Order: sequence, then C-alpha cells, then structure tokens
Amino acid sequence: MNILILGNGQLGQMLGRAAIHYGHACLLVDTKTDQVMPVAAYEPLPMDIAAATEWADVVSWEHEQLAPAHVAICKAKFLSPTDNILALTDRELEKSLCDELALATSPWQAFKTRDELQACLQQTQNAVVIKAAQGGYDGRSQWRHNPQADSNIASELLQQAGAQRGIVEDMIDFTCEVSLVGARNAQGDICCFPLVENVHRQGILSHTLAGLTELPEHLQAQAEDFFKRLTDHLQYVGTLAIEFFVVGEASSARLLVNEVAPRVHNSGHWTLTGSSCDQFDLHIRAITGMPFPAALNTQATVMLNVIGVSQIAEHLWPSDADPYWYGKDARPGRKVGHINWRTTSRGEALAFVDREQPQAQQLAD
Ligand code: ATP
Ligand code: MG
Ligand code: MG
Repeated sequence: MNILILGNGQLGQMLGRAAIHYGHACLLVDTKTDQVMPVAAYEPLPMDIAAATEWADVVSWEHEQLAPAHVAICKAKFLSPTDNILALTDRELEKSLCDELALATSPWQAFKTRDELQACLQQTQNAVVIKAAQGGYDGRSQWRHNPQADSNIASELLQQAGAQRGIVEDMIDFTCEVSLVGARNAQGDICCFPLVENVHRQGILSHTLAGLTELPEHLQAQAEDFFKRLTDHLQYVGTLAIEFFVVGEASSARLLVNEVAPRVHNSGHWTLTGSSCDQFDLHIRAITGMPFPAALNTQATVMLNVIGVSQIAEHLWPSDADPYWYGKDARPGRKVGHINWRTTSRGEALAFVDREQPQAQQLAD
C-alpha cells in the first residue's frame, strides 16, 4: 500500500521504517513546510502535498496538532473518524470524554476566562495543576498552585494561565505513573503491550521501565478495559497510548487517566528493542489491515530519553545498549534521541539511568 504520514520528526521516521519493513511504500510530509519527504532522507521530493495525498491509499500522522488543510487530508484518507480523534487534542473535551465513558480521571474543572480561573482557584483547598486546553506537551503550558503553601494567587499565574481556555485539575499524589500502549484495527481487534512505568523530570518523560516494575496484576486488565472502551467509542484504528496515574497500593491500587495520545508514543519506544513486534509495526499493521501477532513476545527493557544534548557519552553505555538518534539540533528540553537497554534487573536499570542522566539530559531552566 501507499502510506502518507503527516509529520517527519522521529515518530514519522520510525513509522516510515516500519512501513517499508512490511513492504509498503511510505512518504512523509514536513507539516511546517508541506514538503514531501522520502523516509530517512534530507532532500524533499519534487511532489506537492496534493499529489502525495492523491498517491496515498491511507494517511496517518505522527502528531495530532494539525493545520486545517491537514485535517482535511485526514478526513479524506484517514481510517478513523478524524473529528472524534481530534477532540482528544483539547484537554477539556478529553476530560469530558473520560467522564462520559466513566474512565476514572483526576477531578477537574474547565475555565474560559481569567476570572473563571480565579474563581476556580479561590474555591479549592487542594493543590492543583492548571493546563491550557490546547497545544501543551512535555509539561509546557502548565502551571501549579498550592493554596496551603501560598494563600495568594500570584497575578503572574493568573495572567499567564488565564490567557486562554484550560482546565484546573487536582494534583494527584500518585504511587507511580504508567502508560498503556496498544493498537486497535478496523475489525475492533486489540493488541496491547504490558503497562510500563514512566518517570518524568520537569514534566518531560525521562525514562520508561518496561517489565521492571512490580505492578498489582489487576491494573493491566483495568488499563486494557479503558483502552477498549475508549478506542471502540472513537472507532480508532492504529496505535494509541493512555497515560495513567497509579493511586493506592496493592489490591486497592487503581488507575486514573492522565491523558490520551492518539498515535505512537514516547513511552512505547522501548518496544523497538524489547518486543517481537514494536509499536510502529502495530500501527502499520492496523492501518494496512495486516493481522496482529497472536502474542507479543516482550523482554524487560529500560528506555532513557536523550534530551537537549548534542551528543551522548557512548563509552558509558553498556555495549549491548540500543541507541536511537533523531538528527535534531539540540535545545534544552528537546528530545533528540533515546537509548534502550535490556536488563532483567530493576536495580541495574536504575543504576544505568543514574549514571547516564547527567550527560544524556539537559532540561530547560
Ligand atoms: P506529554 O509530553 O506527555 O504530552 P503534557 O505536557 O501533555 O505531556 P501531562 O502529561 O498532562 O503533560 O503532564 C506532564 C507530567 O506532569 C505528568 O506526566 C505528571 O508527571 C505531571 N502531572 C501532570 N498533571 C498532574 C496531576 N494532576 N497531578 C500530579 N502530577 C501531574
Ligand atoms: Mg500531552
Ligand atoms: Mg503526558
């Protein structure tokens, strides 16, 4: 099949590789310039986006922050109903959908104006996170307020956070953060990876521990139930990730949805090394009608993001580590690569992270 991917960053490239590996033809669109790019190449093709759309049997995306012209392309050649999926890019609609489908999530309220934000903050005794309704990622466009620590609401906070629509969400005292990455095909079959633990620094994913965390067993079933109800409702086709907070311990542990990413996801990058079929393969299988594997053969893996640095100190890695470099200019806080390493020891995985983090991650101030 001919596959067109909107976006040519690292996720687009990894999707492109998976498409080619299965014998499909794949082109990427640089969504900033509308140039059409081959996979793993720097020079655009002499083809415009209209011709590429015409060429494609199916269109998919690496990110869901799309301009209206790109939304129109998806409406014509995307397998899932585009409007359903794009509703997830708005935090208020995303939270409303969780409520509608009874997917447990943190208590929240929407605000439309600075005054409404101020009223929300005045009413609550809880520590909260304020999130802009649109456009935030890697912890950007988020603010925190704790009435116990600071009885005044800083005017700067109101000014910045109240500049656009958003939500006020209770700060969750979680045991850990986990995510479920999986895929659904057009027949409604579902194929999910095991839940993995995600550790964030300043709102950015630092590392993922797959098969290295003892999670109460019932959580996998709860997560997959949420996944099925959500993707069935959306009639979603492809790979999708749900980020959760785990609250409580042992048999009383439960999941709260933090957010949903209707695409391949950073917390699924470990599957490139630790699974017989990775998250990009699953996406391509779903959108081209190939069956899912009967079982995913996974191995314990740690994934460390490389953030904001122009090179990584290779001599420190274990020799069997598996590095991915995205070919992007380094800026503090920008993800430029990741390193996967298979180990069955949580202690060794955490020691690897501790040792590598100082040279591998430069966050913004
Ligand atoms: P992403 O890059 O994953 O899309 P994002 O910018 O959309 O991130 P969130 O996932 O909403 O942001 O938040 C980033 C991180 O901030 C979370 O993973 C979590 O560590 C912390 N955080 C967000 N909301 C809350 C909350 N309500 N309670 C506690 N921590 C939170
Ligand atoms: Mg997000
Ligand atoms: Mg997130």
